[in-house]
Amino acid sequence: FVKSSVIEGTQPEDYSDQEDIDAKDILKRELQDERKTLPIYKFRDELLKAVEEYQVIVIVGETGSGKTTQIPQYLHEAGYTAKGKVACTQPRRVAAMSVAARVSQEMGVKLGHEVGYSIRFEDCTSEKTIIKYMTDGMLLREFLGEPDLASYSVVMVDEAHERTLSTDILFGLVKDISRFRPDLKLLISSATLDAEKFSDYFDSAPIFKIPGRRYPVEIHYTKAPEADYIDAAIVTVLQIHVTQPPGDILVFLTGQEEIETVDEILKHRTRGLGTKISELIICPIYANLPTELQAKIFEPTPEGARKVVLATNIAETSLTIDGIKYVIDPGFCKIKSYNPRTGMESLLINPISKASANQRAGRSGRTGPGKCFRLYTSYNYMHDLEDNTVPEIQRTNLANVVLTLKSLGIHDLVNFDFMDPPPSEALLKALEQLFALSALNSRGELTKTGRRMAEFPLDPMLSKMIVASEKYKCSDEVISIASMLSIGNSIFYRPKDKQVHADNARLNFHTGNVGDHIALLNVYNSWKETDYSTQWCYENYIQVRSMKRARDIRDQLEGLMERVEIEICSNASDLDAIKKAITSGFFHHSARLQRDGTYKTVKNPQTVHIHPSSGLAEIRPRWVVYHELVLTTKEFMRQVTELKPEWLVEIAPHYYQLKDVDDSGTKKLPKGQGRAAL
Ligand code: ADP
Ligand code: MG
Repeated sequence: FVKSSVIEGTQPEDYSDQEDIDAKDILKRELQDERKTLPIYKFRDELLKAVEEYQVIVIVGETGSGKTTQIPQYLHEAGYTAKGKVACTQPRRVAAMSVAARVSQEMGVKLGHEVGYSIRFEDCTSEKTIIKYMTDGMLLREFLGEPDLASYSVVMVDEAHERTLSTDILFGLVKDISRFRPDLKLLISSATLDAEKFSDYFDSAPIFKIPGRRYPVEIHYTKAPEADYIDAAIVTVLQIHVTQPPGDILVFLTGQEEIETVDEILKHRTRGLGTKISELIICPIYANLPTELQAKIFEPTPEGARKVVLATNIAETSLTIDGIKYVIDPGFCKIKSYNPRTGMESLLINPISKASANQRAGRSGRTGPGKCFRLYTSYNYMHDLEDNTVPEIQRTNLANVVLTLKSLGIHDLVNFDFMDPPPSEALLKALEQLFALSALNSRGELTKTGRRMAEFPLDPMLSKMIVASEKYKCSDEVISIASMLSIGNSIFYRPKDKQVHADNARLNFHTGNVGDHIALLNVYNSWKETDYSTQWCYENYIQVRSMKRARDIRDQLEGLMERVEIEICSNASDLDAIKKAITSGFFHHSARLQRDGTYKTVKNPQTVHIHPSSGLAEIRPRWVVYHELVLTTKEFMRQVTELKPEWLVEIAPHYYQLKDVDDSGTKKLPKGQGRAAL
């Protein structure tokens, strides 16, 4: 055992640059110079020495010190890539892509060649790839094909402090393989100081600290709580812009919708002010933002102008944007939360933790003194915020993880080496859910269906829907639907001045009240009929980028169908068959109309509503199956399709009994409240 010790890098030493810099490549040379200005540079040799000496090291360093972009390059320069690839995991797709792009630039190679990235549905690597940035979820999937990660010489689990579900599972798996692969180096890197916990978990691994530079940050609180933090954020941006000295602004919002709203309002208001104010460049950044636009946040701000970056949590630690002097922190983020008792998962806007608030504030003091405007009171901060965010493993549905672990041959989940074990109730619920989906048998072993499901990088309910499409002979339609569902919420758009047109265009796809799933299929097929026309998308208020992404995802699902030996066949005229396949995956998500016009979920009754954007919002069928629940003002079901109650018993006999779907008692509805369609 190595005694837990802190190797504090304190003796900066200069060393000569051994890189062969191509004289013509000015950009590369500039970038090479820039590399040397990063705080981590001074500790390069010490760090490499430590890596040589120890198998596992915990690395702690302030965000922006160069951990993610530099360490894999140092390892490459020191020859580790001659023995195998260097993997560096990121909790977020955008971070993996953006960092890989940066590092490929620094190394002067084409992205996807020596330096690449791998995220779900997008593999930008090649035979040549030696440094591979990837989401933690993708490395987890690689275990399925290569249980000892033989093709890697180093695994760097980056942003470990985020404690995503996949990162937590990776901890257990890499710790296990490190025992029989002494040649494999493990780096666990984190932006926060609670590294002791990581060290303890990895058998007292030494902690390597990279002292960061940090300038003082002035924190401002609001005097009273804000009723509308979106509005407050916008006002604060404009106030900073007109009253404060130069420096860019970073605003933390909870998701794409909020970011788009703020973007639109800010554009509108600054346009109104005309030339009275200097230019304000608005740069959104979130997971689904197209790659071309992601690079914009890193472009230097022109003289006289000011940049405002509207970001999700991604800018908290994963991405560092130079030049930020002002941070606006409304104090919220969107997190997935799961109730193991009811089995319901929901995306909620939650207050952030103190640790997050401090990280956010720190973003303003990287290159000089900064200011952070918290849109909450100091009392809120002191008394209402939790110290740390609860690790995802303790607040999420574990079905996906259980399926992955089972397919890795890990059966004894209770004794799996979790850093923080999930609640046993949640584990049990996951096993139950997988049993109901026929992925596991009654002894908890993987079935053929389960093995096929595990091939798909999707939620078990979606993969079950796909596997079930074989039985209903509609795999062609179902993989299109699955691809469209995987895009999330960004298929239709609704410009403020053309809302009526946009809504009409959208309703066209719902003709016959087919439900949202089939409507998505109609969108996809209509687009395909126009030979994937961009013009057609414009005319129908559909985001062409989202559609292209759906097509990419669909291509990959089609490839996976071959692997699990399910033939692609079409059954377009039999909508019931398609709906049955959907129900085979999503029967847990069924709800029944109540007398008062609301819905109740069938098992574990809870009141829910059809999301106003659904094609069935006005129709209100008696029984529905939904894709997901989102809690905004109410608990809304998003992507809703009508079903026949007898399907539930037919499809999931071990989950639903006749009494669950007994329809008497709710038959007589007051006039105007829903329509009994069955
Ligand atoms: P850490 O991982 O320690 O937080 P990084 O290695 O991500 O630090 O960042 C080091 C530097 O590289 C930062 O100054 C950051 O601005 C810059 N950088 C990272 N990614 C990009 C990118 N895609 N474009 C431009 N600069 C980037
Ligand atoms: Mg980083």
